[in-house]
Amino acid sequence: MDLLNFATRALHEGQEPLPPFDAVMPPIYMTSTYAQSSPGVYKGYDYTRAGNPNFTQLEKALASLENATHATCFSSGLGAVTALLTTLEKGDRVVALNGLYGGTFRLFTKVFSKFGLDFVFASETEMEKAIDKNTRLVFFETPTNPLLEVADIAHLCGLAKKVGALSVADNTFATPYFQNPIDLGADAVLHSTTKYIGGHSDVVGGVVMTKNGELKQKLDFARMAVGLNPSPFDTWLTLRGVKTLALRMEAHQQNALALATHFHHHPKVKRVFYPGLSDHPGHDVAKRQMRGFSGIVSVEFDMPQKEALALISYLKIFTLAESLGGVGSLVCHPATMTHASIPSVERERIGLSDALIRFSCGIEGTADLIADVERALPRSLETLS
Ligand SMILES: *Cc1c(COP(=O)(O)O)cnc(C)c1O
Repeated sequence: MDLLNFATRALHEGQEPLPPFDAVMPPIYMTSTYAQSSPGVYKGYDYTRAGNPNFTQLEKALASLENATHATCFSSGLGAVTALLTTLEKGDRVVALNGLYGGTFRLFTKVFSKFGLDFVFASETEMEKAIDKNTRLVFFETPTNPLLEVADIAHLCGLAKKVGALSVADNTFATPYFQNPIDLGADAVLHSTTKYIGGHSDVVGGVVMTKNGELKQKLDFARMAVGLNPSPFDTWLTLRGVKTLALRMEAHQQNALALATHFHHHPKVKRVFYPGLSDHPGHDVAKRQMRGFSGIVSVEFDMPQKEALALISYLKIFTLAESLGGVGSLVCHPATMTHASIPSVERERIGLSDALIRFSCGIEGTADLIADVERALPRSLETLS
């Protein structure tokens, strides 16, 4: 199928009705194994750790949405990162942009560094120096969590290309609806489908998309050999989420922009982090490489940590929880949750204040989200007095 429109591809790519009954919505192939007519003779699948029709449908849809030709889906976002790292050899260097998702940083430094991979972390301006001839993988996220820093994708991919290293973008925050790193030179794109792609906070999953057939084979091998496969039900749920990705992302963005604009010049706010604001340091690069600014807003309130924590506790629509990207709004306090393992001096240095609150704007009514925070603000002040 050659469908140009994103929303149309999200609904139809890889999703033709399957025989024998041509059910319009796909059946869930809850099977671990497949009958063989004679040893080694089977209809495309032999064991679900290696493949399943629900995986294939999701992969075709997601590959299309990232303008890739291949995708491999995994049990989680970190499962997808694991698969990528297993394609490397002892002594290979991985250069990563600062500001990585904490779980990815932990996987690099606490697990794979034990097996002879060399991890180097750098700011965008330090990347060129850090990428040496032993570098096989250049890994980055943009926008980052929770400060929404924006990196120039084409620039980073160009640096990787110079030494023949693979460039990989974790595109979880932007989603393929707003940003396609492969079009900007990335060799592969990775997502935690747990977030926007699944979109309903009801499933954990990951995926890697690429145009590189050799890499696709290595990723399929890693999934099968390491045991990184998702469940057929989870991939079915994820594909159900994909169908509404375009609509949801528009609503997430509309709410995020409204929240960011509302708190931009607010008496109780020091700073708002949202790439869609024209005074955001990455706004120009974001405008060049993204079609929209997605649904996460971080707000540094002008108050001590105690008051910020009280504020969060009075929110009714924003649920205090890990994760992001679901239809229901979520809120988190990075200094005590996602980034608690970073020493407070280092947190201050990178601009991650104790009064920073990250909002994952859902698809509720815009006015209700703003009112939820405004209602909580005076109450959090009372708590302290
Ligand atoms: C959540 C997340 C991951 C990890 O994905 P899981 O599905 O939780 O394993 C990786 N990268 C980013 C940017 C994330 O937000």
